[in-house]
Amino acid sequence: MLKFTAFLLWTSFTLGALISLLQADETPKAPTGAQAMPKPMTPGGKWPKGSMERPRPVVVSPSTSSAPESAGQPPSDAIVLFGGNDLDQWESQKNKDTPAPWKVENGWFQIVPGTGAIVTKQKFADMQIHVEWATPAEVNGNSQGRGNSGFFIDGHPEIQVLDSFDNDTYPDGQAAAVYNNYPPLVNASRGPGQWQTYDIIYEAPYFGPDKQMIRPARYTVFHNGILAHHALEVSGTAVECSISLQDHGNPIRYRNLWVRPLKGYDGEPLR
Ligand code: MG
Repeated sequence: MLKFTAFLLWTSFTLGALISLLQADETPKAPTGAQAMPKPMTPGGKWPKGSMERPRPVVVSPSTSSAPESAGQPPSDAIVLFGGNDLDQWESQKNKDTPAPWKVENGWFQIVPGTGAIVTKQKFADMQIHVEWATPAEVNGNSQGRGNSGFFIDGHPEIQVLDSFDNDTYPDGQAAAVYNNYPPLVNASRGPGQWQTYDIIYEAPYFGPDKQMIRPARYTVFHNGILAHHALEVSGTAVECSISLQDHGNPIRYRNLWVRPLKGYDGEPLR
């Protein structure tokens, strides 16, 4: 009886081992000498698709919305050029190194006509800009004489500030026009006295080693959240630019003015 039990145990063990061997043979094997397939790459060829080694995007707390009576908060990585209290980031354009001669009040500042433009002390290359502005609630004048100011990325064309609500003028001179170059794609103006926004992307021109321009500067502009220009090539060779605001003789108000210097993917230069 003991012998028979031992025989059964030996038989089941041997059969089990045979079955395991047969099953193992069914497992597909890489053909001998086959090359490892290259990993599919993301555009640019630097990072494999789905790589966990790729640098993480910088964390930014986004801006908050403005209301008619109060400006929102800028994003956490913004350079604030006017946060509601002072014009310390600015100076007079015609009297360098003297304070910006415009009036600050209640979270906004206002052009003092006749005192001339103001200009930032700092210069910026590729950047995102946010600015809010309001033309006078009381309407005076017409065409270019009504609520005229201007936003300059110095060395490049003006982005026009004007009361273009029911106020006809030449199209390449109305609000959000790239002045004397292109009218905005649409007229997205709000009425006199209402706060309006420009969100601008400035891409600096860039040059080859021989100093030849490879690509001109570009503007993308949203007026009150509506696209006015998209990647529009503009004149000018300046890369790092101050920002200036025009005194055209009308008491325009500005508030909540900030810039974010821009980099490209993975912290590389933008382009
Ligand atoms: Mg102007």
